[in-house]
Amino acid sequence: MTTIEDLAATLSLIGKLEGGPTFMGIPDRWFDDAHWRCVNDHVSVRFLKSTELGDLCLACQEAVKLTFPEDVDGPIRRGRRLIR
Ligand SMILES: [Zn+2]
Repeated sequence: MTTIEDLAATLSLIGKLEGGPTFMGIPDRWFDDAHWRCVNDHVSVRFLKSTELGDLCLACQEAVKLTFPEDVDGPIRRGRRLIR
């Protein structure tokens, strides 16, 4: 299983490669069409907000991170638009 640290590092790298304006290192456009990825490869536009446990996946209750808008369920893949 991917750890949340691994997932955060992967998404951080994808965000850096994407370029463009960012907020706290995350591309602005990711916030405009927010999708959330968990460590078990679920991607959703919604997540469970827990004051004790942080942001959690609705499908498996594992931690989620903001991901790029084109992301889909399954192993993470960089979108074609990231390869310039
Ligand atoms: Zn999940």
